[in-house]
Amino acid sequence: MAEPFRHPLVRQILELARPVWALDYALGLMSWDRETYMPPEGVEARSLAASELSVLRRRLVLNDRLVELVERAQSRLDEMNDYERGVIRVLAREIRVARALPDDFVARFARTVNVASRVWAEAKRLNDFDKFKPYLEEVVKLVREKAERLGYDDHPYDALLDLYEEGWRTKDAERMFARLLPGLRRILDKVLSDEFYPRSHPYEGRDYDVGRLRRLARRLLEALGWDWRRGRLDESPHPFTMGLDVRDVRITVRYEGRDFRRPLYALLHEYGHALYDMQIDPALARTPVGAGASMGVHESQSRLWENVVGRSPWFVKAVKPLVDEHVGFTRDADWLELYRYFNMVRPEPIRVESDELTYNLHIYLRFELEKGMVAGEVRVSDLPELWDRMMEELLGIRPRSYSEGVLQDIHWSLGSVGYFPTYTLGNVIAGQLWSVLTREVPDMYERVARLELGWLREWLGARLHRWGRTYPPRELVVRATGAPPEPEHLLRYLEWKFLQLPSKLEGL
Ligand code: MG
Repeated sequence: MAEPFRHPLVRQILELARPVWALDYALGLMSWDRETYMPPEGVEARSLAASELSVLRRRLVLNDRLVELVERAQSRLDEMNDYERGVIRVLAREIRVARALPDDFVARFARTVNVASRVWAEAKRLNDFDKFKPYLEEVVKLVREKAERLGYDDHPYDALLDLYEEGWRTKDAERMFARLLPGLRRILDKVLSDEFYPRSHPYEGRDYDVGRLRRLARRLLEALGWDWRRGRLDESPHPFTMGLDVRDVRITVRYEGRDFRRPLYALLHEYGHALYDMQIDPALARTPVGAGASMGVHESQSRLWENVVGRSPWFVKAVKPLVDEHVGFTRDADWLELYRYFNMVRPEPIRVESDELTYNLHIYLRFELEKGMVAGEVRVSDLPELWDRMMEELLGIRPRSYSEGVLQDIHWSLGSVGYFPTYTLGNVIAGQLWSVLTREVPDMYERVARLELGWLREWLGARLHRWGRTYPPRELVVRATGAPPEPEHLLRYLEWKFLQLPSKLEGL
């Protein structure tokens, strides 16, 4: 692309904003290193360094000259192109947040979640909710203060949600779940009463050779078109993606030695995130718009590759020879057996182990509880009981312990409240992309069956990835698909996959 930033005011602004990018780059690298190779005892110095850099970052964002130029630019938006307007929008938002949350508040928040997340890990290990309770109460107090400081129109939760999903409101999330839930329950009930998608599978309990699975992961990434000159694959306790630059994107997975679908689908998930980061227009790199549009849009990319592509029968059939070569024991059965193993449906207490049908019910539960905590309607001491009761209502199961119930996720201990619903939004957007893709590319799955995926990378690049944060997430989705996120597409996709496909698979 020709130079996207030509307006003299924007060029000055980008100059002043570059050190903010550099600090984010350093913080990103520090956090990648902390999760992968840092010796455990380095954690204290690392947190201190990161919080000092965050303070520095806030000062750079609130630099008088930068603030003045951004304010001046806001009255001259009609002279600018979309990219330039995007830069001003993103920076104005950053400035608003930085102003609302002063240094001493940010430091207090960081100190609190630092301790709380450590206590959480210990409490989870010991299955001891009471140990974590006072720390979570402290975090919730701070999160509520954060919402008040940020300001909101209708619900304090709006202020938090907006940090992860620009422009999204509590009522939007409520509407999304209200439209999704009845359909999910209906499909789930039918699938559970049938036996095509099994609740358990013998492969789950089989051990695999970690060295051979590592090689399989690399081969799979290569089949997806991975460029090792611009990407890495490492290992960490929780799989994640770190996009430091369009030419330096790193993903991680975890090998536990049993249940080989777990690392494989974590790999496909992180690949989707990584591809997004790699396909942002290089001309936007190192600017405020050179990143993914939002958590929800980012998650839609990971879910598209993990589920819509990766869990489809065509993909499973295509990669079966590779799996056989590296896993071995799958050779004794046909591809349909592998497909059923990869697509088990079972109400599970643990979110990260749940399937395409139950996953969003887990998210709904968290959304309701955290929204209630922020509104002051749910007390931390009532959480375990509310959690178990909702689990029973939604999934018909009760967690056997706090560790596989209310203590399972790290998010609340980190003060990441408002994050969860973006997971479901990601699934919704992925469903919508499936809808558009099947319409525009009717032979999509025949191509997947040949592992011909270059066209899909390009399609996603042109529709979504290249724009970075130029447009707010909702507008980006409208541009890419013709409409704002609508949950009906996801329901249609799930209905097709779980209710219609089974009878057609024999002859595939
Ligand atoms: Mg993800």
